[in-house]
Parts: sequence; structure tokens; C-alpha cells
Amino acid sequence: MTDYRIFNNDDAMRFADKHSELFGDHSKLSAEEFGDGNLNLVFRVSNDKGTSLIVKQALPYARCVGESWPLSTDRARIEAEVLRVHARFCPEHTVEIRHFDAELSAILMEDLKQYTILRTALIKGKQYEHVATQIGHYLAHTLFYTSDFVLTGPAKKAAVAQFINPDLCQITEDLFFTDPYCNHERNNIHDLIISTARELWQDEALQAEVAALKADFLSKPQALLHGDLHSGSIFVNAENCKVIDAEFGFYGPIGFDVGSLLANFCLNYLGCAGLLADTEAVTEHQTYVRQQCLTLWQVFAEQFSQLMSQDSQDPMLRNSLYQKQFLQQVFADAIGYAGCELIRRTVGLAHVADLDKVSSEQQRASIEKQAVELGRRFITQRQSLNSIEQVLDLLPL
Ligand code: ADP
Ligand code: MG
Ligand code: MG
Ligand code: MG
Repeated sequence: MTDYRIFNNDDAMRFADKHSELFGDHSKLSAEEFGDGNLNLVFRVSNDKGTSLIVKQALPYARCVGESWPLSTDRARIEAEVLRVHARFCPEHTVEIRHFDAELSAILMEDLKQYTILRTALIKGKQYEHVATQIGHYLAHTLFYTSDFVLTGPAKKAAVAQFINPDLCQITEDLFFTDPYCNHERNNIHDLIISTARELWQDEALQAEVAALKADFLSKPQALLHGDLHSGSIFVNAENCKVIDAEFGFYGPIGFDVGSLLANFCLNYLGCAGLLADTEAVTEHQTYVRQQCLTLWQVFAEQFSQLMSQDSQDPMLRNSLYQKQFLQQVFADAIGYAGCELIRRTVGLAHVADLDKVSSEQQRASIEKQAVELGRRFITQRQSLNSIEQVLDLLPL
């Protein structure tokens, strides 16, 4: 870290210029910092002809809190390397990394300025039919090709070691799996749902299920996860989707990535009742979101099954009964992690705009209670739910 310094606009500009041929004439570059994330700096570097690139730099602490919350800058390496691995297996839906500098913890990547963040689009009621199909494909390919179905034992162990990510895993271990189930000072609970939160703190049976999900998160290195696949980590336009922001990546349970996105669709499904103008618009949007959840699981499951049967390298793991059971367990895990995401986005530290933007406090509280209740059902019923249709039947009408 000897040469590390926190970038200003000029540093970001010089970094982009030095590591890209794209700009040509050096004198006409400009840069602005515009990151809206919680952790890092994000700069757009442009020339006067409209060509641009993104520079993302990890700070030695969490941006949203400050120096009192130190955080390893190794997360920039993790992010760059996860995205490069994922791009190998799904280049069409992974942001392109152009350069990574370990000393500066800085990444140069393609600018997705022709795209919109999926969460922003969903909140406005926009409907892109291709999201679930494309991200289902992304998940099947990135997760299968980094798993034991493909890697040899030694290669897998080396890969796991390359993606040890203690600081960012700790954030998930705390904020996602622990804080919501106790009266933790980091929680962010609106006054009107404090009794709902208390119920979580007293529910030992629910906590036992969350403990099991957490234990798997800690000790089930099935595949190289994105690790933070919410609707703010996906860019979308009329034809395509691209995934960004993989700094939480590590080897973990496959269901975690699938469940994270499913839950973010569900959060939007619930929130849109308080965001969109009239009941007709709400019904139409909810139908779309339901369909996206269905398609996401179906495409993921079909493609993952096909890859298991066609491209598994280990002869024992080619057993088709084993493969069927494996996918069933991924399904149960995904629904469990989706349940945890629903709960932690409602009572935990980091909320989602899909719920926070509901302007009537009464309506927001009733939607938040629905989110917690749905999360509870996902977690407690995950082993007995047999299909995505049964899962979606739990969504309120
Ligand atoms: P953080 O890790 O701090 O959450 P993100 O990677 O999510 O940072 O980026 C924060 C914001 O910066 C995104 O919501 C988006 O607006 C912008 N951004 C990040 N990467 C790109 C990109 N490749 N192209 C365009 N905008 C981007
Ligand atoms: Mg982000
Ligand atoms: Mg963020
Ligand atoms: Mg991030």
C-alpha cells in the first residue's frame, strides 16, 4: 500500500488516461466523482468527444461511515478479479474491467452510461422483460463454472484461497444474519414497526433457521459468488443487462446470489403498492415482477441442470440423482437467503429505496410488516416449498 493515495478528480483522470488508449488527445479530459454507493469512490472520466470510462477506488474505510469503520482495500482486487472470472463465463452480462492497480486499489472499467440501475427503473415502474432471462443465464454460468462440478480439487482450493474476503464477509455476517435478530444499535427501524422487530428478537425458532443459513454462508464454498447481487448492482437498458460491484465476492453457497436478487424483486413487488400512481399500474407492475421471479428461477435451474449434465468433470458428480438433489438444496437455500434479505432490508442498517421512498408513513409501515412476514415464511418454509410457483403464492395480492 506504499503508493496508495485517495484520488481526487485529477488523479482519476490521469489514472484513466495512463491505462487506456481510448481517449487520444490528453488535454481535453475531465473527471467528476459521482458515486452513490456506501463504500467507494466512483469517477467518470470523459473527453470532449463523449468517450468515457469509470474509475472506482476503494477507500481504507467505509465511505458512508468514515474512518471509524476501517475496511480492507483488498476489496478492489476481489471486485476486479471476481468480475474478470465472471466475464470469462458470461461476458455479455458482466461489466468489462479494463485495468486494475493493486497499490492504488483502483479499477478502470467500461462506462455503462447508456444503461440505468435496475432498482431505479423498477421504482419508476419500468418493465424490462429480458432481465430475469439474462441474469438467470449469468447466475447459472458464473456459479456452475466456478464450482466443484468443473474445478479439480486442487484448483478449487486455490480458487477459494484467492477470494478470501474477511472484511466484506464480516459485513454480511453482521448486517444480514445477526443484527436484525437482536436489538442492535446498528439497526434502522421505523417507529411504527418496532413491535414487528421485537417479535424477531424473541423468535428462537426463526433464529435457529437463520443460524443454519448463516452457518452455510460461513462454511459452504460451493462457487464464486457475486456476493451483493441486489437490484442496485445490475445495469439495464432496452436490450441488455450488466452486473457491477462484486467487492463482496467469495466462495459461498450458490443459493445466496440467487436469493439476493429474488428478494430484491419481492421488495419492489411490495414497495410498488406505495410508489406507483394507481391500482391498475400497481397490479400491472406486480404481475411483471412476479413473472421476473418465476423466469429468474426457471432459467437459472434449467441452465444449471443442463450444465451439470453436460459439462461436469468429476465422474461422481455426474450422477443425475445427486444433481437433482443438489439443485433442490440450492432452491431451499435461495428461498432462505431471500427471506433474510427481506428482513434485513426492513429492520437492518441498509434499507432499499423501494420501501423507503413510500411517502405515507402508515402505508410504508404496513408494507414493511408484509416484507418481514414474507421473509419469515421464506425462511421457515424453505425446505417444504417445492416450486417457485408455491413460493410466489406467498406474495400478498
Ligand atoms: P459501491 O461499491 O460503493 O456501492 P458501485 O459499484 O455500486 O459502488 O457504484 C456506485 C454507483 O456508481 C452506481 O450506482 C452507478 O451509479 C455508478 N457506477 C458504478 N459503476 C459504473 C459503471 N461501470 N458505469 C456507469 N456508472 C457506474
Ligand atoms: Mg453498489
Ligand atoms: Mg452500494
Ligand atoms: Mg459495492
